[in-house]
Amino acid sequence: MSRYTGPACKKCQKLSQKLFLKGIRCTTNCPVDKQAQSDKHFSNNGPKGKMSDYGKHLREKQIARFSAGMSEAQFHRFFMHAAKTPGGTGESLMRYLELRLDNIVRRLGFAVSLKTARQLVTHGHIRVNGRCVNIPSYLLKIGDEISINAKLLETAGVKQGLEHAEKVAFRPSFLAWDGDKHTGKLVRWPDRAESSIQADDQLIIEYYSK
Ligand code: SF4
Repeated sequence: MSRYTGPACKKCQKLSQKLFLKGIRCTTNCPVDKQAQSDKHFSNNGPKGKMSDYGKHLREKQIARFSAGMSEAQFHRFFMHAAKTPGGTGESLMRYLELRLDNIVRRLGFAVSLKTARQLVTHGHIRVNGRCVNIPSYLLKIGDEISINAKLLETAGVKQGLEHAEKVAFRPSFLAWDGDKHTGKLVRWPDRAESSIQADDQLIIEYYSK
């Protein structure tokens, strides 16, 4: 199945969950927030009605998949890779999702949303250890240094992302930011609590166990 390219908000509305797919624009004018305010049967962090076990497992998998902007097949491949990794499957999965290059580009502030971060990567503007990497799902390793084509630093989108990252202390401590060189370095693995994806990994494991 290919990656969904329709309106981002529809995915959040379907799951009754804010997934912040439009990045910093999600703090204002969010239809999920509006629906939660106007409909007492609706909540912006999950449905209020009863749900089957299968429905709960599917929902958590979809939250994680949509948040990472991945196709079904790609997400399943990540899950299988995590299942083969020594240690907990859930923790490995969330770590791999976090360490995708497009997500780290967003968390460093080079982009205001995952979608724009992915565009920067696919258009060849991002470097890892000085080498151009144009694969959004590229998994970073400890010690990798991420930088952006210097010409892009003057563009409105990148400036907005960097300003936002400074203003709201958006960068997690597993990334060391060098403000003079505009580079970020992965200095350790992220903890589970530092993941930008708010999904229950145990329920995702149960979804794939069936
Ligand atoms: Fe749209 Fe963002 Fe709200 Fe999701 S969280 S519904 S993407 S504005």
